[in-house]
Amino acid sequence: MKDNKKFARKKGQWRGRQVDSEALKEVRALLGDESRQRDLLLEHLHKVQDKFGFISAAHLVALAEEMNLAHAEIFEVASFYHHFDIITEGQQAPPPLTIRICESLSCEMHGAQELIAGLQNEIVRQNNLQKVRIQRVPCVGRCAHAPIAVVGCNPIENAMSESISLAIRKQETQAALPDGYCDYQLYLKQQGYQLLTDCMTGKIDVESILEKLENSNLRGLGGAGFPAGRKWRILRNQLKPRIVAINIDEGEPGTMKDRFYLERDPHRFLEGSLIAAWAIEAEAVYIYLRDEYAGCRQMLEKELKKLRANPPCSLPDIYLRRGAGAYVCGEESAMIESLEGKRGMPRLRPPYLAEVGLFGRPTLEQNMETMHWVRDIVEKGPEWFIDKGRHGRKGLRSFSVSGRVKTPGVHLAPAGITLNELINEYCDGMQQGHHLYGYFPGGASGGILPASLADIPLDFDTLQEYGCFIGSAAIVVMSQYDSARKLALNAMRFFADESCGQCTPCRSGTAKAVQLMQAEHWDTELLQELSEVMVDASICGLGQAAPNPLLCALKYFPQEFGQEV
Ligand code: SF4
Repeated sequence: MKDNKKFARKKGQWRGRQVDSEALKEVRALLGDESRQRDLLLEHLHKVQDKFGFISAAHLVALAEEMNLAHAEIFEVASFYHHFDIITEGQQAPPPLTIRICESLSCEMHGAQELIAGLQNEIVRQNNLQKVRIQRVPCVGRCAHAPIAVVGCNPIENAMSESISLAIRKQETQAALPDGYCDYQLYLKQQGYQLLTDCMTGKIDVESILEKLENSNLRGLGGAGFPAGRKWRILRNQLKPRIVAINIDEGEPGTMKDRFYLERDPHRFLEGSLIAAWAIEAEAVYIYLRDEYAGCRQMLEKELKKLRANPPCSLPDIYLRRGAGAYVCGEESAMIESLEGKRGMPRLRPPYLAEVGLFGRPTLEQNMETMHWVRDIVEKGPEWFIDKGRHGRKGLRSFSVSGRVKTPGVHLAPAGITLNELINEYCDGMQQGHHLYGYFPGGASGGILPASLADIPLDFDTLQEYGCFIGSAAIVVMSQYDSARKLALNAMRFFADESCGQCTPCRSGTAKAVQLMQAEHWDTELLQELSEVMVDASICGLGQAAPNPLLCALKYFPQEFGQEV
């Protein structure tokens, strides 16, 4: 019979793990006098991870105690995000240095696997296994310079074993501030924040701003493409208090445009966001920045400090929040969940975020690049933006181009430009010895098109009939040395790793698809049936779009499956 006395809790003792007094002391010291409110959970987890290089079970319990959260709740959040290393009793702490090597599309095309294998051998040869570990990671947003390794927080472009070893030897593991960016003083000299001041002082009215945005046809540039002006207007009809939430979680493989603008001109999107907050009468602005952009985070912290210390006019509260390595948090409602300190699981809608968003309040959620263009559109007039389109399309698009072109990078080009035009006019053509074979028009989730379809306009709503979409305009250019079949598998592995697991069609569907796609002969009938279920029954865009590359590979690249073209 069970000895009840032996198992009985002492008076005042909690169920489950007991709080370790040393861990509690450490957590208290790390948190200092910062708020313990729930939405700061990710921020506080980062503090522990940064300090110790991992999060022990004792620290999780101490943090739960400190934040008045259940142990299970804090564990489920911490374990959801790739950038937190949870170490329970009996497990070994990870080596002090982590090297993350991207193995998404462009990096895979540029030898990521060989780089990983070479580096692993090198680490073993140098007997460094206790000091360094290698992690395979998805896109880190620098695809123009693939392959990319991140040593600690220090991104190494065009990475080779030698450059990585050098960074390790020199202990260069911190991210640097972006070079020569337009800081607060310079931005002010360029009449920055004048527009915001004019708005706040009544020189410009809300209606005129909304009209300009609507007339410019500015759309959400994170991928969904919802008209920005209309979104702001919807928010104005919602109950107060309202919130603005800015999404800088760009994790779609191939996408690097937000980082590109952020590293050069951070106050431009801040001013756009503050104008949005004024227009919808929001009381706070939340900025969600992906953890991979550590240099940008430091820069934003510094610049926000300057802005708050010497504001051009009265400002709402501005909060900068750090993601923790979860692609799905780029989905707007998952980002809101993450901002609330929870797992980044997409919400079922309705209700939409405009009605019930962050902390249950009406929320204007916008991509960072969308906000970047607000000032130019208002100051230069909507025609400046809308007149730039091509092939009947309107506006400008920032194409993140990577792969086999001579000049990859972020290219600002007319909406509706074709791939052939983009390559020839903006990318200096294909690399020597490469000819166009196919391309991803919208990152990993936007599908794959063959070279024969390189003359169709690239824009929102133009690619659906081909089973593709432009999304965040991440173009990955393939040549005769690449394989649509292999890259479709790469994309599916990525979706399987990043699925939040909330719904079965996506959680099991992506994993099953990876299994089927690894086989020498694809069971096309089963893959098509599986895709149909994923598209029809997944909760969010991740599961719905995951089959796009595989379906396109089957449709447009039959030669890779032993069929006649
Ligand atoms: Fe999560 Fe995938 Fe379902 Fe989206 S589709 S909610 S990522 S399981």
